[in-house]
Amino acid sequence: MKMQTHKMTVSMDDHSSHLEVFKQFFKALDDQSLTIEKLPRQDIEDYQLQAINAALAHVWERNEYYRAKLEEHGFTKPVIDSLEQLADVPMLNKNVIRGDKQKILCVEPKEIGQVHLTSGTSGKPIYTAYTLADQYVYDLLPKYLELFQESDVDVAAVALPYEFALPGLGFQRLFQFAFGTAVLSLGKGGYMAPVDKSLELMKEYQATVLATTPSYAALLAEESERYGIRIGEDIKLKKIYLTGEGCSHTFRQRLEKWWGCEVSFFYGSTECGVVAVECSKHKGYHVMEGHVKVEIVDPETGQKLPYGKTGEIVVTTLLREAMPMIRYRSGDIGYLQKSSCTCGLTMDVLHLRGRMENIITLGGEDYSPFMLEHFLMEIPDVGMWYHFKPGEGTLKIEAEPFRTTLTDDQLAEKIKKHMADRIGVACEVDIRRDIPRTFGKATRILI
Ligand SMILES: [Zn+2]
Repeated sequence: MKMQTHKMTVSMDDHSSHLEVFKQFFKALDDQSLTIEKLPRQDIEDYQLQAINAALAHVWERNEYYRAKLEEHGFTKPVIDSLEQLADVPMLNKNVIRGDKQKILCVEPKEIGQVHLTSGTSGKPIYTAYTLADQYVYDLLPKYLELFQESDVDVAAVALPYEFALPGLGFQRLFQFAFGTAVLSLGKGGYMAPVDKSLELMKEYQATVLATTPSYAALLAEESERYGIRIGEDIKLKKIYLTGEGCSHTFRQRLEKWWGCEVSFFYGSTECGVVAVECSKHKGYHVMEGHVKVEIVDPETGQKLPYGKTGEIVVTTLLREAMPMIRYRSGDIGYLQKSSCTCGLTMDVLHLRGRMENIITLGGEDYSPFMLEHFLMEIPDVGMWYHFKPGEGTLKIEAEPFRTTLTDDQLAEKIKKHMADRIGVACEVDIRRDIPRTFGKATRILI
C-alpha cells in the first residue's frame, strides 16, 4: 500500500518543541509503510511511555499548576518508569479548568493559533488552546489508514458545529490535511447552510462521506423526502461518521438502512480531541493510541481499574504543545479490553457506556440511556425522536409513530408491553407527533 503523505508542507514542519522526537518516530513508521494501528503492543506502549514522559517534562517546565500538583503528589522530577505508574500522576478535573483560560496553558498566549470551547451546557465553558503546530503538525503525525479509508477522491460533508467547538473544525482539518479530501463545511443548520441547502450541496458535489451527530443524520434523512432529494440516488454515501452524541446500535442500524452505508462512531472531546474510533467490525472503539493514553478509574475512589471493569474514562493527550491534558477525567463511562479484534488492529478497544450523570436507575437497576433507547428502537413502529422522563418507580416515554398502521392507542400498548418486558418497570406512554427536532445536542432524557 502506498502511504499517503500530508498534503500540506509548510515551514511549520521546521517548528521545534518537546515533540521533536516523535516526528522522527512517525516518519520511521511512514518509511516502512506502517501505522501505529497494528504495531506490537510493546512498541505502542514504549511509544506511549516516552510520550507521557515528554508531556510530563513539558508541563513541569511550562505550567505552575501542573507542577504544583505533581509535587504535592510526591514527584521530585517529572518522570514515570512504567505505564502502570501513570496511576500515581494526579488527575485533572473539569472544574479546575472550567472557565479558566490559563490554568493549564503551557505556551505564551501569543503562540495560540486557535481556541476551542465546550458547549458549556453544564456551566462555564472549558477553553482549549492549540498552537498551529498542534493542529497542523503534531495532531497529524499518527496516521490511522486502516480506520480511515478516505482519500483525495472523496468529498466529505461536515455537518457539525463550527462555531468554537472542536468537531466541525476538527473533522475539516482531519479530512483536508490527513487525507486530502475535499470538504463541504455544512455546519448544523446555520444561516449559511440550512437543512435544504445542506442536502442540495451534498447532492451537487456528490458527497461520499458525512460527519455529523446521530440526531442530525436522522434529521437530514427525514427532511430529504420533503425537499425531493432521494437518499441512495441523489446522495450516495460510502460512510457516515457519528460523533458528539451517542446512540444505541439499533438507532445506528436504522441510519445505516436509511442512508445505505456503513455508520461508524467517532469518540472524542473538545478537551482531548480524538480518543477512539470504531473499526469496520463495530465491536467497540479502538483507542487512538498515537494521540491518547486511555485509562479507566473507579469514579468514587479514583483507583485505576483493570481491563474489563467499567468506570470513568480518563484521557492523557500525548502530542500537545499548548494545552496537554494529563489524566483528564472525562465524565464518560466505559471499559477497556485488550484488542483481539478480527480487524487486526492492536490498539485497545474501548466500550462506551455514556455519561455518568445520564445513568437512569429504574427498579434498582442502572441503565444507560442508549440501552433504554435500544429497547425502544427494537419496536419498528417507533420513530427516531422520543423523550424519556424517569420518575419514582416508573418511566414516562414520549414517542412518535413511524411508518405504522397501528393506532396511537395500539402503539402505546405495544411500547408499554415491550418496555415492561425489557426493564421490568411499568411505563407511561404518550404518543406525540411534535417532538422538537434540534440543531443542537439532542436532549432525550428529561428530568
Ligand atoms: Zn477492530
